[in-house]
Amino acid sequence: MDYGIAGKTAAVAAASAGLGLATAQSLARAGVRVAICSRSQERVEAAVALIGHGAIGFVCDVSTAIGGRAFVEQAISELGSVDILIANGGGPPAGTFSSTPEDEYIGAIEKNLLSVVAMCHAAVPAMRERKWGRIAAITSVAVRQPVPSLILSNTARAGVTGFLKTLAREIACDGVTVNSVQPGIHATDRSTQLYGANADGAAMGIPAGVLGDPVDFGEVTAFLCSEHAKFITGVQLHIDGGSYAGLL
Ligand code: NAD
Repeated sequence: MDYGIAGKTAAVAAASAGLGLATAQSLARAGVRVAICSRSQERVEAAVALIGHGAIGFVCDVSTAIGGRAFVEQAISELGSVDILIANGGGPPAGTFSSTPEDEYIGAIEKNLLSVVAMCHAAVPAMRERKWGRIAAITSVAVRQPVPSLILSNTARAGVTGFLKTLAREIACDGVTVNSVQPGIHATDRSTQLYGANADGAAMGIPAGVLGDPVDFGEVTAFLCSEHAKFITGVQLHIDGGSYAGLL
């Protein structure tokens, strides 16, 4: 399928591995010029080589609003524009209400909410002026169905989902779409860290019986950034092998 976005530019945050890298690769295959970031020069260089297609990358920590804004501003400066923003970042530490100190919430909200707000502030004005833009934020299926051991993620990502939905409706008239993609458990470093290297999809109760493949996730996210997806905005798409059991 031709996504109709060849020649566009994209900033994909936190993309030296996992779901961010897979999304950057899908966009690059669709002819998009991609800028990525990660926290280590070595990892950035390795990822840029994997993505190819003229991708560029910089060292940037997007766990704060200042870092999120800095990444998008540098991408705009190096690429000349950013038509597509993939707002992504590392997940917060695991923990329950009982094991999580109150002062850890601020960090999680900065990392998984305020950083995304800052990335949008840096990217959206020029998208609106050009009357074309795509924003896809990688959040979590925990927004729909909170994971008992991830109270920080459940809390911060619910907030960012409210922000994105509000933004989507405000700027839809300018040709800019805003969606979130909610991964269930995918085979990445994050899931290895949380569930171990031998996590078994069937044993974990995933109806599809396997962990998600980051390559598939990247393709679906790239589709949301396609020309054909111009009428899809304000959506929270869960990609989880059937894990979420609710209707809506
Ligand atoms: P990952 O750990 O496999 O990869 C994260 C990538 O982001 C790496 O390239 C890492 O170097 C980079 N990164 C981490 N923190 C960064 C920072 N502060 N600044 C810049 N780069 C940073 O994670 P993933 O599985 O790709 O997950 C991506 C997002 O999706 C995370 O927020 C995660 O919590 C969420 N998520 C993942 C899953 C899953 O099963 N993989 C499920 C639900 C939600």
